[in-house]
Amino acid sequence: MQRLFDMHCHLSAMANADEVALDAARLGISLINMSVSPADARAAERLAAHGNVRLARGLHPWWVADGAVELDEIELAADACAASRFVGEVGLDFSRAREKSAEAQIEAFEKIARACEARAAEGRVLSIHAVRSAGAVLDILEAHGMAGGAACIMHWFSGTSDELARARDLGCYFSVGDRMLATRRGREYARQVPADRLLLETDAPTSFGEDGAAGEIEARLLATAAALADLRGEKREPLLDRMARTSEELLG
Ligand SMILES: [Zn+2]
Repeated sequence: MQRLFDMHCHLSAMANADEVALDAARLGISLINMSVSPADARAAERLAAHGNVRLARGLHPWWVADGAVELDEIELAADACAASRFVGEVGLDFSRAREKSAEAQIEAFEKIARACEARAAEGRVLSIHAVRSAGAVLDILEAHGMAGGAACIMHWFSGTSDELARARDLGCYFSVGDRMLATRRGREYARQVPADRLLLETDAPTSFGEDGAAGEIEARLLATAAALADLRGEKREPLLDRMARTSEELLG
């Protein structure tokens, strides 16, 4: 039985990805492996052979900002996203280090949203990175029928409280991890998210290329659930059950 769901992690960035996937299966953990570029998604395809692993095809805004992907790769990523039920990691990052590339990032993210809009997929799920850019992200999702037309999961939401309300009203889901709960604002947002839109994530590993451990993923998911239960004045087990149901619906 799958009892825990890591709705945003980077399995393919772990040096021992197969071992982590197998151990996770034994521990009853399902996960969505976020890819960051078309090359990463190609390399990650074989990991989806594990029954507890789903592959999301994406284009991480850092890879756009840092010029790591060429223009034709952005087209390729948009096509791959559109052909996929699970899309991620995608989004925008306007933090100081990357705001210079805002225009290029918007262009890439819009391309992806437009491609997804043109090619509907039953039960589509997007996992979205939005740093200092939640408004722009929501504008693009709304303009291209993704808000409401797909399950949009805001990963580690850090926007303003007005943006949180807007995302909530647009029907977005929110995946919460320990790093979000490390800030007062993150804890307050996690308290406010509607019960049936709340999900768990680790965003592991901390550094790409290092070894991961399913036991650590399990411990982090359980600790986040315990902290959420505390914040929301709920019991941990029913909260875990509800998040598992929501995750199962999304993973189908
Ligand atoms: Zn991530």
